[in-house]
Parts: sequence; C-alpha cells; structure tokens
Amino acid sequence: MYDVIIIGCGPAGMTAGIYAKRANKKVIIIEKESIGGQMASSPIIENYPGYSSISGSELANNMYEQLSNLDVEIELDEAKNIIVNDHVKVIGENNSYEGKTLIIASGSKYKLLGLDNEENLIGKGIHFCVSCDGAFYKNKTVAVIGGGNSAVTNALALSDIAKKVYLIQKIDHLTAEAVLIQKMAEKNNIEILLNTSVDQINGQDELENINISNEKGEKNVKIDGMFISIGLIPQSGIAENLLQINEYGYIESDNCRTNIPFVFVAGDCRDKKVRQITVATSDGTTAAINALEYLNQ
Ligand SMILES: Cc1cc2nc3c(=O)[nH]c(=O)nc-3n(C[C@H](O)[C@H](O)[C@H](O)COP(=O)(O)OP(=O)(O)OC[C@H]3O[C@@H](n4cnc5c(N)ncnc54)[C@H](O)[C@@H]3O)c2cc1C
Repeated sequence: MYDVIIIGCGPAGMTAGIYAKRANKKVIIIEKESIGGQMASSPIIENYPGYSSISGSELANNMYEQLSNLDVEIELDEAKNIIVNDHVKVIGENNSYEGKTLIIASGSKYKLLGLDNEENLIGKGIHFCVSCDGAFYKNKTVAVIGGGNSAVTNALALSDIAKKVYLIQKIDHLTAEAVLIQKMAEKNNIEILLNTSVDQINGQDELENINISNEKGEKNVKIDGMFISIGLIPQSGIAENLLQINEYGYIESDNCRTNIPFVFVAGDCRDKKVRQITVATSDGTTAAINALEYLNQ
C-alpha cells in the first residue's frame, strides 16, 4: 500500500513526488510516455526561475535526477482506471497499485492542425505559448492560427514583439470576446485572414513558410514562426466517472482538492487559468501538502 500514488511524471507530478518523499512517505509515480511531460518537448525554456535558458529535456532530467536521488519509485505504465472505496486502486496496463491517497497530474496536450511536418517542427518555428516563445520573434513575421480568446490574446501579445502578425481563422468570424477583437483594431501590424485554412507547413529543419487557401485561391506565406492556438486537450479521461469535470474537460478542484477527500489534482489537467511549468510545480506542491495533511490527520 503506497501512501501517495501520483499519475503523471511532468513537472506537477515530479514536484508532488519530491514533497511526499521528503515527508518520508511511500510514493510511486506512474508515467505512460516519457519523464518530463510536455516540457520535455520544448527546446528552450527561458521563464523557469533559476535558469536563464535551459532546454526542456535538461530541465526534465534535472527534476528526474532529484527524484532518483530521493529514491522515488517511478513506473512506466498507463493508468487505465481508478477504483475508490476507503482507499484508491489504480489499475494500470501492466500492474495495479493501491494507495491511501492519489494525486492526478496527467497534464494536457495542445491540439494540432493534423498536417504533415507539424510535429517535427514543434519548437523549430511551431509553438503554442507566446509567453514561453514569443520573445524569439522580435521584429519577425509570425502567424497565429485560431480565432478564439487565446488566439486573439496571442496575436495581441505578439503584435508588441513581432513586425507582422497574421491571424488565420478557418471560419468566417472570430469567436473571441468583442473587447479583444476591438483591441486588435488599434494594431496596425495584425492582418486577419478569415475563412482561411493552413494546408501545408514547409521547412526541413525549421519552419520556412506555409500554404494557405481561401476563396481568393491558394497562397504561399513566408513566416518565421507559427503559434497554433486552437485549444488544449486535458488528459482527464481517467477521472471522468470519478471526479467533477468542467465543460472543457478539466478536473474541478478547490486548491487542488477534489470532491473525494483523498484524491488531489495538480497541473495542466486542473481547472485553472494559467498553464505553465511554474504553475504546475506550484500545484504539485499544494497537492502533495494537502495529501500529507490528509495522511497525518
Ligand atoms: C512545446 C511546448 C513548449 C512549452 N514551453 C513552455 C515554456 O517555455 N515555459 C512554461 O512554463 N511552459 C511551457 N510549456 C507548458 C508546460 O510544459 C506545461 O504547462 C507543463 O508541462 C504542465 O505540467 P503537468 O505536470 O501539469 O503536465 P504534463 O507536462 O502534461 O505532464 C503530464 C504527464 O502525465 C502523463 N500521463 C497522462 N495520462 C496518464 C496516464 N493515464 N497514466 C500515466 N501517465 C499519464 C503524460 O504522459 C505526461 O508525461 C510548453 C509546452 C509545450 C507542449
């Protein structure tokens, strides 16, 4: 019987693991893909305090090393089901795990356009997060794909950094709030392309240009960077029948506590506004301290 089971070995899960293990608890982290979660696919991180610039894989490795030095047990397995009675049983693909508490830190995934070459060029011209990577495009030309609040917010933020911003939206209108759309009207370096789809992404080792099409025909547009802003998919399926999930698929919580007193949630899969590494580590801390409080009561 583990004191704390953690699903997900991204920054939220790893931080929770460090706190729980340092409190001398029996801890296991279950990870289905690779150590580090989303950050491991970021080539450069410049907004995690303590490192002016570090690759995501190096930051993930540093966190992993800290866990290893503490002897935190990490199991490569996919959690498939959670059964709750007076404790928790996590059924994995390979094994099952019983614990007194559970922290779900299963993260989220950015939605992709589904085009060839797209995944290869992530971090090499294709990005999702302007506060993470926008600064690399000072005085350059970028495209933001999408038309909702996050796309328009990203276009506005980039318009203060880049020389030119294309906002490319598939349908005939923007779905962002009117106040945000209004703000774009004050910017003279944002060009909005409605009813326009991105058909092809070109570039070998880095993004070079894209092919777009609309009622006027097809066009090749040279851009230095592209920010895909069509939403996130929370990895919350495992909690679907167990916890309260909001309309967007995020697990609802009160300060990382869920509707079950010994199940906690941390990181990107939680209902919150900001999804960044600093916030994920903060959530990991809060969830672990809540779990420790539950265990010690
Ligand atoms: C390309 C890219 C660049 C980024 N750059 C930055 C940046 O520069 N700065 C910044 O602050 N943020 C950045 N982010 C965002 C940041 O990485 C996330 O906010 C952060 O990783 C969230 O941490 P998390 O631990 O909540 O979830 P995740 O990092 O998503 O980790 C969750 C982990 O849980 C695992 N998992 C999911 N379901 C299961 C299951 N059923 N069983 C077992 N394991 C499971 C997943 O495989 C994953 O490893 C970037 C994201 C991406 C994709």
